[in-house]
Amino acid sequence: MIPVIALVGRPNVGKSTLFNQLTRSRDALVADFAGLTRDRKYGEARLGSRPYVVIDTGGISGDEEGIDSQMAGQSLAAIEEADAVLFMVDGREGLNATDEALARHLRQRNKAFHLVVNKIDGIDADVATSDFYTLGVESLFAIAASHGRGVSSMIETVLEGFPEPEPFCEEKLYDSIRVAVVGRPNVGKSTLVNRLLGEERVVVFDLPGTTRDSIYIDYERDEQKYTLIDTAGVRKRKNVRLTVEKFSIVKTLKAIDDAHVVLLMMDAHEGLVEQDMHLLGHCIEAGRGLVLVVNKWDGIESHQREWMKTELQRRLQFADYAETHFISALHGTGVGHLYKSINAAHDSATRKLNTNALTRILEGAVFDHPPPLVNGRRIKLRYAHAGGQNPPLIVIHGNQTGKVPASYQRYLEKIFRRKLELTGTPVRIEFRTGE
Ligand code: GDP
Ligand code: GDP
Repeated sequence: MIPVIALVGRPNVGKSTLFNQLTRSRDALVADFAGLTRDRKYGEARLGSRPYVVIDTGGISGDEEGIDSQMAGQSLAAIEEADAVLFMVDGREGLNATDEALARHLRQRNKAFHLVVNKIDGIDADVATSDFYTLGVESLFAIAASHGRGVSSMIETVLEGFPEPEPFCEEKLYDSIRVAVVGRPNVGKSTLVNRLLGEERVVVFDLPGTTRDSIYIDYERDEQKYTLIDTAGVRKRKNVRLTVEKFSIVKTLKAIDDAHVVLLMMDAHEGLVEQDMHLLGHCIEAGRGLVLVVNKWDGIESHQREWMKTELQRRLQFADYAETHFISALHGTGVGHLYKSINAAHDSATRKLNTNALTRILEGAVFDHPPPLVNGRRIKLRYAHAGGQNPPLIVIHGNQTGKVPASYQRYLEKIFRRKLELTGTPVRIEFRTGE
């Protein structure tokens, strides 16, 4: 599972600066779900190819009375959600009472944390950090967030503590189709989950236990096994007081990463809002199979439906590989049809690709539209082979492959998707240079 790192500390120590530094150039998701997570910012970051989530807790200010109220609410929830806490202090200002109180509080909550002494640019790091030894921490980093100094080695060390994400192994790929139902609050996730599980043809095996993460529900339909990843926590709501709020971005991100196929739900009444686009961006980034579900279609007047479809599809164009369904989870209209897309996306995402076929498709694509000249020499693409599944990865060998323009790469992706008849999944292309 994707690790979650929370940044905490009093104002002005450099949390936002570090957040931006870590999530920079990754514009896929900086979700700020107004009203729900007022003071929290979520971003996806990557160390090499390894993704992780960063939460900027923002809202701890030294002005509240008592540490409990300082740590209350949003920031506390973020800390609870996190797998690792980076507790930031200001190396220029030295230790202050709020830092001490925060450290005590983290310790009381049994939350392991790393101490991050920031702003060590232009000062003596040893002197700056020595001030903080009294906090009694085991793990200490000295960084300059605004210069990026010490940042990636720090993240490397922090992530070392977490198991590497397992590649999708064959067994996992073919046993049961994992379907995540995600979307912002009130789009109808709970209603759809109940519908899917309440269908006549469905046999539900286990009723899930209680965890902080999403609920996994195994069932079978038409002799195909599915595991529904229920981010709305429908089946546990009665008996558990949630520590984290009902809707959690971290839970959503984790569900997406753990799924074969994501059902991304949107609300026809509200149209596409920014948060939908953030989530969509994350689904694309994660490379998961994707089915777009526009819910509450029952409430849309029939004379509005056509132009709404056109308009929605226009705005969803950048995920053109995904099939879109217009459903009513409430009435069950269109729900059964989702399976066709789910199965197709899973099949496409996990299909074994044949080297000869891939190379032939590549040759055809290059013949129709040769890659451009670079410094008077033409980029040569020689052969292709499969590199992985979910999403399908196609490795292309050739010369000067580092110079292949993004537009040409997109062209190839499109051709491969079309010729291989892949639906509901993106295709990734990786270039290698050399004979
Ligand atoms: P936050 O309130 O904890 O989110 O802190 P900010 O990220 O907003 O940073 C507060 C101030 O510290 C800003 O003026 C930053 O430019 C500055 N700052 C952040 N990181 C560094 C650093 O590594 N070195 C120096 N010299 N200043 C920094
Ligand atoms: P969640 O927060 O995403 O789990 O959303 P819920 O499933 O709790 O639904 C939020 C509200 O939307 C509830 O009042 C549902 O009854 C309503 N709702 C869900 N699906 C539909 C639908 O297809 N049509 C209409 N009209 N309302 C729906």
